Amino acid sequence: MVQRRDSFTLLRERTRWRIALLMCLFGMGMMVVLGLLNARDGRQDSVFLSIAVFSVLAVCLVMLLALPRSTGGKIYFWITIGVLVYLPLFGLQQGRTFHYWAYVLPPVLFFLMRPKPALVAMIAFGIYACAMVAPFTPWIDVARIGLSYSLLVGFMYTYALLEESASAMLRYYSERDPLTNCLNRRTFNETLQEFEQAASDDGGAVLLMDVDRFKSINDVHGHLVGDRVITQVAATLGTELDTGMALYRYGGEEFAVMFAGGDEARALQLAERLRRAIETTTISGLQVTISIGVAVWGTKASSVAAALDAADNALYAAKRAGRNRVESASAHAPRLQRSL
Ligand code: GH3
Ligand code: MG
Ligand code: MG
Repeated sequence: MVQRRDSFTLLRERTRWRIALLMCLFGMGMMVVLGLLNARDGRQDSVFLSIAVFSVLAVCLVMLLALPRSTGGKIYFWITIGVLVYLPLFGLQQGRTFHYWAYVLPPVLFFLMRPKPALVAMIAFGIYACAMVAPFTPWIDVARIGLSYSLLVGFMYTYALLEESASAMLRYYSERDPLTNCLNRRTFNETLQEFEQAASDDGGAVLLMDVDRFKSINDVHGHLVGDRVITQVAATLGTELDTGMALYRYGGEEFAVMFAGGDEARALQLAERLRRAIETTTISGLQVTISIGVAVWGTKASSVAAALDAADNALYAAKRAGRNRVESASAHAPRLQRSL
């Protein structure tokens, strides 16, 4: 499933990019220190390795700064994995253990993968790293390396699972309304922006719905019944929507539906279906109706916000015309005077 580019996704992307940038700079500094220490001790092969890794990291740094954040970050972490995979092989060629670098891989994998594939990759890498050091390491030390690495992997995996469920919970609560479980106004605004940025070739439609005379339900039956009515109106609307279409709680007793593609006829048909569904359903023992304003947008980006405004005007027109009805913005252009 394609992840919606909501504020949470963007925050995550920005944080990953910053970490990648910091780690890149830190890695370059580390290579300078290691290069100097190896040069002092006369290990020429390791000096060349430090220079090579430094150069790779310098390229990563340029890419992080020049490319879009998600791409730059991903490239950096994959290159880091490439370097970490190469190091035990280099150790084998030189007859020296490079196993300590293996402990860096688990956290890097978690930046790139979901917990389960990361776990598989970590186990495979652990076996590979042990196999690379085994030819010239006492078996007890290979066992120590394998076991301590397993312990690290176990902790990292547990933490990754915890982080994944915490993120899912955070995302759910940040994008949904607690009373109705519909998507909330924040999500609506983000989706609106996405539609604007996409400047959809097919255009789209927005439906604004408002429960009629809801204030009197609250006044006569109390707020708890009012809450129940809002919840059941949302549930009824939700079941009437086409698959894949989202219902937003736009305000107190106001709901919205927005979709790309489709023309005014489809939007009006849907609106009429929703209106009838509420009219013909007894909600908390009450007869409830809704009014709906419908507007469509064309192919220009700015017209999405204009369509929302037009749907709002059409909704007011529906109220003025007696409620429990659907009004289209196209029938009410230019702007209506709000006289309610
Ligand atoms: P109209 O047909 O013109 O829409 O009349 P209305 O009475 O529905 O209009 P109005 O927008 O004035 O009333 C909305 C009321 O909804 C006012 C507010 O107290 C109530 N409300 C908003 N959010 C909630 C909520 O979460 N629960 C309950 N019980 N009431 C809410
Ligand atoms: Mg209202
Ligand atoms: Mg109302």
